[in-house]
Amino acid sequence: MSRLIIPALVLRRADYSDYDRMVTLFSPDMGRVDAIARGCRRPKSPLVNAVEPFTSGEFQLYQRRDRFTLEQCQISESYYALRTDYDRLVHGTYWLKLLDAAILPDTPARDLFLTTLRALAHLNWGELPPAMVTMAFEMHFMALNGLAPRMDACVRCGRRIDGDCRFDPLLGGAVCLDCPSRAPFIKNGARRILMKLPRTAFDKFVLLDGHPDWPEAARHFRSYVNLKMHMEKFAPPLEETR
Ligand SMILES: [Zn+2]
Repeated sequence: MSRLIIPALVLRRADYSDYDRMVTLFSPDMGRVDAIARGCRRPKSPLVNAVEPFTSGEFQLYQRRDRFTLEQCQISESYYALRTDYDRLVHGTYWLKLLDAAILPDTPARDLFLTTLRALAHLNWGELPPAMVTMAFEMHFMALNGLAPRMDACVRCGRRIDGDCRFDPLLGGAVCLDCPSRAPFIKNGARRILMKLPRTAFDKFVLLDGHPDWPEAARHFRSYVNLKMHMEKFAPPLEETR
């Protein structure tokens, strides 16, 4: 039996019994933590807000063997703006689904946690199109899970690529125009976004504002994420301009 206080982000909640909920936390040091929040469905419970998706803060847990109970939460951010804007909420909810599918218990994911908080800040307070923030989040999310596509060379013949080509989500990268393929074409500008964005600091995606090729990059990358993560039914709309 022990008590611990961890920084975390709420990924989801589920009704557990008449008054209790099960909350899924994303902890940078512990990965996925499922905890029971007792009494949180009673209107005056101090845990009412602590179990809402997107809530981040310091969570006090009581651990008994492998079961966790949520005792208290010091909320640091609830991302109110994104929760009350339908378009942003659809995008943010998709991110939480991606995280819910990827985060494992007892598996630290500190870089992904920090990236997620940065992305949520952009989605909540920023002015850029939610679809652009989602593309940046998807690219960093996949790269941090070791799933970045190969975009600097042909995945069939290995030859270096420095121009227009094809993008084959199934093979996981670019295919040169000399190799046989039915994969869709991708312009060099979009290819370079897929190649470079996951390798730069997260906030650098704001430089793509006004870049003509980011919607194409987002479209190709979404097909790749859908294939790898089976997220079709949660994926938000792609085409979006200001
Ligand atoms: Zn080739």
